[in-house]
This record gives sequence, C-alpha cells and structure tokens, in this order.
Amino acid sequence: MLLGKQGAGKGTQVTRVAEHYAVAHLATGDLFRAAARDGTPLGVKARRYIDRGELVPDDIVIGVVREFLTDHDGALAASGFVLDGFPRTRVQAEELDVSLGDERLDIVVNLDVPTEVVLARIAGRRVCVQCGATYHVDHSPRDPWWCDHCGGHVLQRDDDQEDSVMRRLELYEIQTLPVIQYYRRSGKLVSVNGEADSESVFTAVITAIDARREAPE
Ligand code: AMP
Repeated sequence: MLLGKQGAGKGTQVTRVAEHYAVAHLATGDLFRAAARDGTPLGVKARRYIDRGELVPDDIVIGVVREFLTDHDGALAASGFVLDGFPRTRVQAEELDVSLGDERLDIVVNLDVPTEVVLARIAGRRVCVQCGATYHVDHSPRDPWWCDHCGGHVLQRDDDQEDSVMRRLELYEIQTLPVIQYYRRSGKLVSVNGEADSESVFTAVITAIDARREAPE
C-alpha cells in the first residue's frame, strides 16, 4: 500500500504499480469522488467532508474497503492488490489487519515529501473530472484543459483550494502519522523519497516491493 501526504504523488504511482504487477487497486479518494459525481448516497455523504478537507468518518471508509475486499476476494488472494490513501487513521489500520489477517499485507510504502513541496504541487494540480488523470499547470494536456486520455474537462479539485489543503495537512499530522508509526513498528514500512521526478520515484517503489517479495519469510 502507498501512504504519503496530500499531493505526494500517491495516485500516479499507485496506478503505475498496479499496472506493473497486473493487480487490482483501490484509491479511496477516487472512489468517493466518483460516487459524489454520480450523486449516490455514499457520494453525497462523503462530499460534505471532502470539500472541507476533513476525513470521511472511519465507519463509512471501512465499509467501502470491506466491500472492495469481499468483491475481489478470489482475485486478491491469487494476485494481490494495492491500496492508495487507505488506511489514514489508526482505527482503519487495525480494521484492515482484522479483515486481511496479518499475513496478507506485504509492504507499506510511505512517499516522503516535504510540506513546502507538497503545497507547490497541490497549488498547480489539475484533475480530469471524468477519469481522474492528474496534470499540473506546468504540464497541461495537449489541448488545455481537456484530458488527453478521455477528453473530460480538467479542473482544480475543490479540496485543492488553500483552506482545505491546510486542513488536510493538519489532519495528516494528527491522524495519519500514527498510522506510519503503526506500520514502522510492525516492520512493514519502507520510506521512499517522493521528491524526485516521477520515473525515479516509480523505480524506487518497485525496487522496494521486489526486495520485500524476494526476502525470505
Ligand atoms: P485523496 O484523493 O486520497 O487525497 O482523498 C481525497 C479526500 O477523500 C480526503 O481528503 C478525504 O476527505 C477523503 N478520503 C480518502 N481516503 C480516505 C480515508 N482512508 N479516510 C478518510 N477519508 C478519506
């Protein structure tokens, strides 16, 4: 699973990691945004929190992740999966251990990026409202601002406005740092420098995963 501050580049890396190993992936943030776009009861509820930069309550998030794990049970057991942006609280981490059994979580990768770099990345981040592809004001789509992949409109996320971002970073310190400590203590955590260019970060993540897979139990 990949953890990291908001804007640390988790989304891009998780997609590539899942493609590289041909495994399923779940990004809880993407799932909530899609549900909000579709106006489902889950989406309407989640949006109230997301737009303010608050965390969606644990019981809602845990319900969604449990459903994903149940739906994909056969495939997950056979080939594995990657989680993005989950768990973000200690309660979620403990619940995941219960759901999976301790043996099934191989590695937790923390993308380490200084707060000032994260703030600069988020300020320029633009996202396709249709497929979630991520761009930056310095790397716009070929036809600004329409997505190269699906032709959807590329906009700034509501929760990438300054007030929400500051709140999300504050919550990261309070709620998510304990999750990192939790996995450090369990020996599953590997920190990767997420400040480098995307290609170097991807190589570092794959190298860390391969090393863990090859290590004797
Ligand atoms: P992300 O796309 O990962 O930055 O997530 C966007 C927003 O979705 C977060 O700021 C939260 O409001 C909500 N969210 C995503 N994952 C979680 C989670 N594991 N726990 C609580 N809220 C979450």
